[in-house]
Amino acid sequence: MLLFKKVDQLQAYLSKQRAKGLQIGYTPTMGALHQGHASLVEKAKAENDISVCSIFVNPTQFNDPADLEKYPRTEAQDIDLLTQLGNDVLFYPSAEEVYPKDIVIPTFDFGPIDKVMEGFYRPGHFDGVVEVVYRLLDITKPDRLYMGQKDFQQFTLIYHMIKQMNSKTELVVCPIIREEDGLALSSRNVRLTAGNRANAPIISKTLSSLNDWLQKDTVRTVKEKAIALLSEVPDFKPEYLDIVDGYTLQPISDFEESPYIVACAAIWTGDIRLIDNIILKKLE
Ligand code: AMP
Repeated sequence: MLLFKKVDQLQAYLSKQRAKGLQIGYTPTMGALHQGHASLVEKAKAENDISVCSIFVNPTQFNDPADLEKYPRTEAQDIDLLTQLGNDVLFYPSAEEVYPKDIVIPTFDFGPIDKVMEGFYRPGHFDGVVEVVYRLLDITKPDRLYMGQKDFQQFTLIYHMIKQMNSKTELVVCPIIREEDGLALSSRNVRLTAGNRANAPIISKTLSSLNDWLQKDTVRTVKEKAIALLSEVPDFKPEYLDIVDGYTLQPISDFEESPYIVACAAIWTGDIRLIDNIILKKLE
């Protein structure tokens, strides 16, 4: 695997590959890689000639400085995993490389999409995400960009950003990879206490029950029931559990209201914030 830390060196390499007609699949990450990230890299590798993965813990998307400081960093293990996966290129830049002094990032208009859920509870978070993904796409100019459904609102914003950029990059969204007990893999899971780790699968179990419950009850009742159930788990504090239109991310009040419905949740488990989601309905 080739490792580049400098933007100009990565770009020189990639433009040579592009000149040969090779296609580039790109997976941006913040490291502390797990099988969720691996699934993205594997798909990028399978669908393109060259798989590029980046590891950059982007300081501008952390609304909580303590979260940034405690974010796990496992460089040697990450390099091992990417090598095993046959990833071709790792981009491992410093903050100075990603954000040189003269850099200008355009602004995008997401309407109401970035105001709800993560956008509401993590002020400034999506400004940082959009900034870093814009910059990383500008550097790598991939044919395909690989992102996880795990961050539902994030990939939705990036989809709109790519459209507004008139970029040719295709966004490929990959399914959520879970532990056997249903807990969605996350770099933050390693920081869960044993007790909170044991209870964490209740989040995905609750999300999985929603469709059944919605057969019998209104959206509002089901949402309240889910939040009440999660609130009873020791050390759990639900921040939100919203049942939303999958395109606009606005809350729905009736299950027949939209052909695409998703439930998204953010739950504090002690001092770790876990997010998860489930697609409840998607009619083609
Ligand atoms: P992160 O390193 O947390 O910024 O995540 C990098 C990419 O991996 C994002 O597109 C995430 O949505 C994706 N990802 C994180 N966890 C999972 C998971 N459990 N399954 C699938 N993709 C994931």
